Amino acid sequence: MKNLWNDKDAEPFTHSDLALRVYTSRLLGQNENLVLHGGGNTSVKTIVTDIFGDKEEILYVKGSGWDLKTIEEAGFSPTRLDVIRRLGQLSAMTDMEMTRELAASMIDPGAPSPSVETILHGLIPLKYVDHSHTDAVVAISNTLNGADLLKQIYADRVLILPYVMPGFKLAKQVYEATRNTDWRTLEGIILLHHGLFTFHGDAKTSYDNMINLVSEAEEYLKSVKALSTEGEYEAVDEDYLKLAKARKAASNLFGYAMLANWKRDQFSIGYSSLDKIEDIATRGPVTPDHTLQTKRIAAILSESPAAEVDSFGEKYQHYFDSNTDGNLVCLDTAPRFAVWKNKGCIVFAPNVKRSKVISDILDHTIIAVQCGEVLGGWQALPEKDIFEIEYWELEQAKLKLVPKRNEFDGKVVLVTGAASGIGKACVEAFSSKGAAVVALDINPEVEKLFDREDTRGIVCDITSDDSIRDAVHSVVASFGGVDVLVSNAGSFPASTRLEQMESEFLRETMQLNFNAHVGVMRACVPFLKLGFDPSIILMASKNVPAPGPGAGAYSAAKSALTQMGRVAAMELGEEGIRVNMVHPNAVFDTGIWTQEVLQKRAASYGLSVDEYKTNNLLGAEITSVDVAEMVVTMAGKSFAKTTGAQVPVDGGNDRVV
Ligand code: ZN
Repeated sequence: MKNLWNDKDAEPFTHSDLALRVYTSRLLGQNENLVLHGGGNTSVKTIVTDIFGDKEEILYVKGSGWDLKTIEEAGFSPTRLDVIRRLGQLSAMTDMEMTRELAASMIDPGAPSPSVETILHGLIPLKYVDHSHTDAVVAISNTLNGADLLKQIYADRVLILPYVMPGFKLAKQVYEATRNTDWRTLEGIILLHHGLFTFHGDAKTSYDNMINLVSEAEEYLKSVKALSTEGEYEAVDEDYLKLAKARKAASNLFGYAMLANWKRDQFSIGYSSLDKIEDIATRGPVTPDHTLQTKRIAAILSESPAAEVDSFGEKYQHYFDSNTDGNLVCLDTAPRFAVWKNKGCIVFAPNVKRSKVISDILDHTIIAVQCGEVLGGWQALPEKDIFEIEYWELEQAKLKLVPKRNEFDGKVVLVTGAASGIGKACVEAFSSKGAAVVALDINPEVEKLFDREDTRGIVCDITSDDSIRDAVHSVVASFGGVDVLVSNAGSFPASTRLEQMESEFLRETMQLNFNAHVGVMRACVPFLKLGFDPSIILMASKNVPAPGPGAGAYSAAKSALTQMGRVAAMELGEEGIRVNMVHPNAVFDTGIWTQEVLQKRAASYGLSVDEYKTNNLLGAEITSVDVAEMVVTMAGKSFAKTTGAQVPVDGGNDRVV
């Protein structure tokens, strides 16, 4: 493992103990093989002068909610070290009591809550303490002879302790085990199935010890030949429908829409193709804290993923029933990840952020499990220990807080013509409301346009059925289905009167403004049928109720589209799919309307540009964002009982009213 310490980078952090703590914490955080998504914690003991001028010994420990990778000084909770040490000497305390006492020990009530491992940090008598959930050490520990193997590697340089629950119990275990320890001879403490602690009076040495000890474990693993993890799979059409059905089943167990991300990289496929995958993927997690993100085990899917997800739910209920003391609240029974035999893995999550976290944990798990198998057999903690973490009183307490949910959390929205104008505004509006959004456009720029994890740009020519099919499959593989289709792509051709209208021009205009919409709808309907509060929103035009001279082909195409939408509303109503139409008018903040074009148009009506832009009953300028707001509203609960409707967004037009 590479040691990332660099004297030049460290220099700006040398002015205080806490600043240096920030620097080496970030070094740990940068390595995913040490800490993943908020895992691990660090601390420093230092002297602080309070408002009265008195000096006090303070333990700065990582606050909850902060990630080591990006932590700042404000991310450390300042606790009174004498209080922490006294807490460590109590013979018993519940974790709820501990949480309260830790909060009360802080010298700044506005600081984040101290880590549940604070007392342990306080009991280690050295200035800097680093704690990671290192993959390499934990992988070796999670095997039949894990403790012996680690003993062979580290001999007496490291204290190896059996697994106990993190929190007060763990602090007590370390306190008892190190009463007669000469800390100067000890390089670290391994907590089996959990992680590694290093410590030193000097920040760099504590960090160096972490890297060195982990490197030794990595060297050891290198000498062991890992199982093959590479595989390939060519998806067929039916797979995508099965995936969408599995997502539906998982969401039903979850109680809200979930995303389903099909991991088809060679490692996920290789893992899913292992002969004994069903056995090894259901033994348990790498470390128990992963359970809070991933649940204890994978769902195993094969020919009927939806039914197999349901069966996971039943087994989970059984796991709860056989471990609860009768006072616990059962969590949802939906899986967080599944192994789809020979086809890869699936991550189920309420939003893209969580999906990414689970996906990363899964990547690390795949490697750890296979190393463990080679080292004599992967062996996770027993079910009851995992349950204890999953149903920890501190975790159960969080259930009482009302979770903050965005209106479109877990939902998948597909927008066509999304690289500019109204389409782009729709993408941004949906993603700000929690949706996973896929932006389709023929312009390759669409791939780079949205710099957000929850938004994907895909190049698609919606006049080609093949291109549509590939794009829809890609959406389903990324997020598990389609809940909302915003069929927006279109063109506004140059003014052409009937007498000058060439057949080719008419064909092209109809193709993009009518046929292509039908093609996209047709490809999405099978998935919308499996969607959550599914709906289609068609971008029509004011020209439908109020056509204008020179826009015959465009008006006819949009009218055909509107009529198709009305028919679709009739056909799809029984599936619960709503189809509504928007009639925007005079939206000038799009690419085609340059200042020059606007001036010309305005002049032809004898108006100034401003008058032209606001030439409606309300005297309001209509923007892409205004139209996007209407589209989001139509997809939301305000329109839950409305289908086949046509709504203008035009500031009021006397020919439409
Ligand atoms: Zn830990």
